[in-house]
Amino acid sequence: MRFKLTFPKELADKPVFSEAILRFHKPFNIIEADVDAEKGIIVASVDLSESDLKDFIRFFEERGVRVELLAKLLEVDLERCISCGACVSLCPVEAITIAKDWSVVFDEERCVACGLCVNACPTHALKLSIR
Ligand code: SF4
Ligand code: SF4
Repeated sequence: MRFKLTFPKELADKPVFSEAILRFHKPFNIIEADVDAEKGIIVASVDLSESDLKDFIRFFEERGVRVELLAKLLEVDLERCISCGACVSLCPVEAITIAKDWSVVFDEERCVACGLCVNACPTHALKLSIR
């Protein structure tokens, strides 16, 4: 499950994310972090059961953290894609590949939101849901 956490300024010096790691005993994969004096934003993924997911959301919301679940990091507009392939070799995690029939295949689950493909696409067919 991928999620975006938005921490308000008041929590800047509180180890809320570390507490969550200890509480849920799961490895969190941080995909993006943007922290400054005004706010903190963390995009991460973790493997949780259905019941743990409810506890997870409650854990953060009770502490004043906004939780958004992200279905996909990469949004592909296939109507715009012209299969030029410009994005394929840029992807560091092989989330975009070329099939045997030369079509471009997107595996949004693999995306780690680096943004390289988004900037390279000549038709603006790609967008990240976290930016
Ligand atoms: S954003 Fe980065 S990781 Fe995601 S598909 Fe594009 S190049 Fe690959
Ligand atoms: S760069 Fe854009 S148009 Fe070209 S294959 Fe990738 S998504 Fe499609």
